[in-house]
Amino acid sequence: MSVSRNSTNGFEAIFSTLQNAEDAESTLNILNILDELLSAGTDGRIHYMISKGGSEALLSALVKIGSGSSPDYTILLPLLYLVAKVGHKDRAIGKKAEEAGAVLLTLNLLKNNIQHAQRTEASLLVIQVFAVSVSTSKLIGSNQGLDIIYNLIPHYTNKNMQTINASINAFAALLSSKDNICSAVSKGYVSGLLRLYDEWYRKDTTHSAIDVLQALLRCFYKIARSALGREALVSHGGVWLLYHTTQTSLLNQCLESLVQSSVQLMRQCLPKIPLPLTSDQSAYYFPLPGGQHEVLDMVAASDESNGEIGDDEKLEEDYQEAQSKDYDDDLETDLNKLCLRPASDRPKELLPQYSRLCPELSHDFLEELDFSSQESSSSSSSDDENGHCNHLHLHSFRGEKQTAEILSRTEKGTPDQTKSAACPLKVKDFYSHTGILNTRSEVGCKTGETRGEANSSLTNDEQKDKNEGNVNLYNSTLIDNLIDIHGLAIPYHEPSMYRAAAMKTKSVPGFSTLAFPDFWGQVPPPENEPMAPRKPNIQRQKVLEDIQRFLKTDIINQVVFDLEDDSLQFPADNPDSLRFFSSFECGNLRKAIQVRRYEYDLILNADANCSQHTQWFYFEVSNMVPNVPYRFNIINCEKSNSQFNYGMQPVLYSVRDAINGRPHWCRSGTEICYFRNYFCPVRGSQGTTFYTLTFTITFKYSEDVCYLAYHYPYTYSTLRAHLRLLHRSVDPRKVFFREQILCPTLAGNACPFVTITASPPSKSYKDIHQLRNRPCIVLTSRVHPGESNASWGMKGTLEFLCSRDPIAQALRETFVFKIIPMLNPDGVINGMNRCDLNREDLNRQWCKPDPVLCPTIYHTKGFLYYLNSVGRTPLVFCDYHGHSRKKNVFLYGCSVKETLWQSGSTFDTAGLKEDPGYRTLAKALDRIAPAFSFNSCSYTVEKSRSATARIVVWKELGVLRSYTMESTYNGFDQGIYKGLQTRTRELEEMGMKFCHSLLSVTIDTRALYTRTLINHMTLGHNVLDHKSHNCFEDDEPPCVEEIEYSTYPCLKGSDLEFDQRGCMANTDAQGGAEGHIPQK
Ligand SMILES: [Zn+2]
Repeated sequence: MSVSRNSTNGFEAIFSTLQNAEDAESTLNILNILDELLSAGTDGRIHYMISKGGSEALLSALVKIGSGSSPDYTILLPLLYLVAKVGHKDRAIGKKAEEAGAVLLTLNLLKNNIQHAQRTEASLLVIQVFAVSVSTSKLIGSNQGLDIIYNLIPHYTNKNMQTINASINAFAALLSSKDNICSAVSKGYVSGLLRLYDEWYRKDTTHSAIDVLQALLRCFYKIARSALGREALVSHGGVWLLYHTTQTSLLNQCLESLVQSSVQLMRQCLPKIPLPLTSDQSAYYFPLPGGQHEVLDMVAASDESNGEIGDDEKLEEDYQEAQSKDYDDDLETDLNKLCLRPASDRPKELLPQYSRLCPELSHDFLEELDFSSQESSSSSSSDDENGHCNHLHLHSFRGEKQTAEILSRTEKGTPDQTKSAACPLKVKDFYSHTGILNTRSEVGCKTGETRGEANSSLTNDEQKDKNEGNVNLYNSTLIDNLIDIHGLAIPYHEPSMYRAAAMKTKSVPGFSTLAFPDFWGQVPPPENEPMAPRKPNIQRQKVLEDIQRFLKTDIINQVVFDLEDDSLQFPADNPDSLRFFSSFECGNLRKAIQVRRYEYDLILNADANCSQHTQWFYFEVSNMVPNVPYRFNIINCEKSNSQFNYGMQPVLYSVRDAINGRPHWCRSGTEICYFRNYFCPVRGSQGTTFYTLTFTITFKYSEDVCYLAYHYPYTYSTLRAHLRLLHRSVDPRKVFFREQILCPTLAGNACPFVTITASPPSKSYKDIHQLRNRPCIVLTSRVHPGESNASWGMKGTLEFLCSRDPIAQALRETFVFKIIPMLNPDGVINGMNRCDLNREDLNRQWCKPDPVLCPTIYHTKGFLYYLNSVGRTPLVFCDYHGHSRKKNVFLYGCSVKETLWQSGSTFDTAGLKEDPGYRTLAKALDRIAPAFSFNSCSYTVEKSRSATARIVVWKELGVLRSYTMESTYNGFDQGIYKGLQTRTRELEEMGMKFCHSLLSVTIDTRALYTRTLINHMTLGHNVLDHKSHNCFEDDEPPCVEEIEYSTYPCLKGSDLEFDQRGCMANTDAQGGAEGHIPQK
């Protein structure tokens, strides 16, 4: 018989011959041909054959040949192997087998042949593939299939290994159904399998039965997918057994493959433990205006998210869904939605109020041009602020804060006063540095330590201070001395200025202390900071240490810090434990639990008024033993992966180093990894799962106070002080710099609004006219409080724009910069990660921002509308952000054409006109900014992001160049910084380079290029043909170690491992190699 060259006809012809074959010999021939065809070809050929009805043909042959009372095994055996081989690639094989009546027939063949090893093996392989369908598993289970197969799994032996493997694998396959797991548990099969695993593991001294052990682990993994199964595994000592076998396996290279599976299995088995908190809700609560006081409970999601087995039907649906998911379905494909401009969100009458935010248009430049003093301009700036400050108090939120505010107002001095010695630092500013200076006992302070007093509310401590006037006097002198002796000239930073700014900052809990790094200032360390290499198997080691907690009794589990328990805020000196603190701006540690002598679990405070969004952290630690590795575990992180798995380290600031002249936030920590843990919310295991960030810190000094953070902190008070210093630094004859207040925040903090442009060279009509016609550039930042990298970028931008650099001067002469450097002050102040006090992600509120609940967004948008209404629509809008999953810095922009192309839309874009100018900035940055990655940029418009600043400003305000600039928390994998983690220097440089790139969009480019001073800028317009790609996915390769435990290593490939060998090879003689399977 010959196979036609046309394989369509070929397969169909073969199937029809198989159907009609009357005698054993021709049937066998056909099976041989099929097997040869499939063995020679790729998987593609099998799939093709399946599409041509191959499975159905084989199944009907199976039913025909196998249903007689004494079937012919010379045909049946190769047929069974072939069904297994094809069925393994056919996801619908179970259903097809049920329809053909082949399921119970195969089970019968198994029952009737348990004395024949090879027939048993062949039937088991087929049952295994049938059981891929949950309903087929159930069918087999309800016909004693589970019991028959369980009884085939023998005690330790070294005979018939293939058949034994096949039986265990078939048993594992049947455990896809929850019913079967229940019956396995109720019949004691779980404990039986555990005993078998123990026996096989102990007796297999030659390591020849690793496949059997793997297959048993696979059964356990399937069992562990249901809560009942996990309980059974744990109660029968499964975790204990796996832990101890793993300890042995770790010592033997041959057993390596068992380690990973066992560790994942143990992770899966560990019971979910609610976080040791009284409530999931943030410890910080802020009553919202308008009676929206109720704090919403976390949305209860279904409990099926961690590989937990659900309803059997749902399991199959999930599978189908996963197969058909369209990758790009988030892209907007509706041309109307992409191109039509939505109606304004407010009436025109509301816009004139924003004219006050264009002071450059009405400013009388006479003073500056007459070379009058700087003071007059600075006082006009403060007047503006004072006017608003009164307004802010309307939003005051806590009775006792009133006193504080009055005090802070009376104590508020001009920057010059603050600077002068007449207004020394407040008394309690530096307790703990007294410890460092060995004068601590003299001070006799009881708490506070390191922190400085920021707020003047009359606390108990302060009353006490009043009674200890002499000590305080001594102490304040001490702090002055400290600054005199150790203070450094940090550019754009003055401790006294910081403190003055912080005094006015209103926090929900009423912070009364300053964190030392923010007060003292920081400069990036001089040396490069390469990414940390990942230690092999580090996650495994850490997970095993965590599992040990369940099995060992030497666990301390002592709460050493609790934000909500005053007695634990300043615990009595315990020489054996670290001391923690975080009640300061941007701090957010909620609880610290000493687990072992040198190990702590740390719990972060959720965003105020929320029960979620933990990722950012910032806290203080002291009382350390030097040169001892301390392990820290932040156990309630929420993101499903992190750059901490790809070379990123947290940052550490040592007070001792700082006063010794090294005021650096340094990348620190070893043994870093990030993985899913076994904790769940207090309210139970709703959809939320938590991840652990673990890292180890070895402190250098004993008498030190250190600060640890997710990224370089940048507080709201830092911004306020920075703007003051910038204002002071500029020459008003050259630079028009004005800080105003956009609006008060919910908590009554001022949201700063900055205008920077060049002062006109003269008051001539021509010069003033030129000034008034400069296009606007609008820059915003820090809408997400956890993204402090965005603030460092903005710091670079602001400093550059105020600098004497000739490019800066050129930019000022060309543009008016309107900058809102912190869109979410309240979030930043209260150590939040994502939201504002209104529980919302402010960067999802741009479509219709609420004037009361999202004031900063409402007014930023109002201001943009105002510019629009007076014909000054910004040339560029950019919102600075931080990106937690990617390296480098890059832009997201908006383009109709690119969105349509990437979405696979069939719309013909040829006739669509689009200004390609949206790419100009990225092209320029690609050339001039070493941190920038052109290939990470994207210009697609996503439905899920339709309410973000970038898309709304583009679509509603008609700004062509509307961007999000994303900066890494980690570092760079390209360019001259490749392999380095970012310091603040690189982020600030990026902010500066962003300004440089704006030269590429000047309207009068030629005029600028003819200036000799910017000749080194090679901003051309050659088209770089980079392709943007889907931007919101991780750039990283899959993690070396599985972060999730719902993915089981040996299930990743296939359940079946027989396909390498030909199906027909062993079927020569049915009686030949057969033997009895040893029974238990
Ligand atoms: Zn962001």
